[in-house]
Amino acid sequence: MTISSFHPTPRTLMGPGPSDVSPRVLQALSRPTIGHLDPEFVGMMDEMKQLLQYAFKTKNELTFPVSAPGSAGMETCFTNLVEAGDKVVVCQNGVFGGRMKENVTRCGGTAVMVEDDWGKAVDLAKVEQALKDNPDTKILAFVHAETSTGAQSDAKALTALAHAHDCLVIVDAVTSLGGTELRVDDWGIDAIYSGTQKCLSAPPGLSPVSFNERAASVIKNRKTPVQSWFLDLSLVMGYWGGGAKRAYHHTAPVNNLYALHEALVILQEEGIENSWARHAKMHQALRAGIEAMGLEFIVNEADRLPQLNAVTIPEGVDDAAVRSKLLNDYNLEIGAGLGALAGKVWRIGLMGAACNAKNIEYCLNALDEVITNMGAKINSGVAVDTAKAKLA
Ligand SMILES: *Cc1c(COP(=O)(O)O)cnc(C)c1O
Repeated sequence: MTISSFHPTPRTLMGPGPSDVSPRVLQALSRPTIGHLDPEFVGMMDEMKQLLQYAFKTKNELTFPVSAPGSAGMETCFTNLVEAGDKVVVCQNGVFGGRMKENVTRCGGTAVMVEDDWGKAVDLAKVEQALKDNPDTKILAFVHAETSTGAQSDAKALTALAHAHDCLVIVDAVTSLGGTELRVDDWGIDAIYSGTQKCLSAPPGLSPVSFNERAASVIKNRKTPVQSWFLDLSLVMGYWGGGAKRAYHHTAPVNNLYALHEALVILQEEGIENSWARHAKMHQALRAGIEAMGLEFIVNEADRLPQLNAVTIPEGVDDAAVRSKLLNDYNLEIGAGLGALAGKVWRIGLMGAACNAKNIEYCLNALDEVITNMGAKINSGVAVDTAKAKLA
């Protein structure tokens, strides 16, 4: 058998990521590959840093994209900041807090867990108690936008709390960056990582990170070398650190970086505050349609993420059957529930380029048709008009 070129069917991506990548970004991806030390490429890297500083709202020098997906940004933060014997308070209210715990343990640290129900924001009072009970804590780690549940935690207040107890923070902003308010410098966030395939709408495979001077000096004063050679910032910065003397560390994913550069240029053109506002507005439209159908959100209104909408699956409806019908008949991807929420919710993403009125109408219409045809008792035929009224 001869295998021929792979041509995926275009989909509408309204799950937990990746999100729709715009034609402009896909075009950037297909530009000629050049050397990763080519002066033209190095010029692009300098712009990349500025664009990421814009997106994170920071002046941090140590701001760059790790050459691997969001999980590698997570590992970069933990492996560089956590040494054997360090204590880290980890907030868990969904899947990703659990991964933070894994990271701490694998670095030889001790994770003190602060757990909240899935679908709830991180409880500040519980965190404060944990920090009081553990005065030797070095770091507080939490997820800003928990993609597994659609809950948003108060990153500003959590960071202030950590600083009041002399701790650094590590913040997971994989799903929040570009979609919801995030101010690294104003809030004093010490270390943060994100991803490209959620609200930035670039292809997956890179993880923007940023560290302030406090975090950088903690890394510089480590007693032991970082156990990961690839993620050791003292080595990576020989390449990303700027200045004329960029040295080979690993071969950067050249074309993927073109794509992220373009996605960030698009973000800058829109204006980051406008992007946050668009996500909020589109969420209200989707929400109106979803609720008109009779489905419910699992997260309290105050803690809801605009870019990730976790909605209950109506009684008697086969979760997997609905999602495969949406994919096969409508080329529409929505997300399944994860972990504790598997089989209980759908996760409808409104991320980056996918966060638009056309997608909302398309998704509401498709969901309505598919679940009505399965005999579920929902209010059929009203969702799209209700959503449209919100956008008028
Ligand atoms: C997607 C996601 C990650 C992991 O990112 P990958 O690019 O899949 O490695 C981490 N944290 C959160 C909150 C996410 O949504």
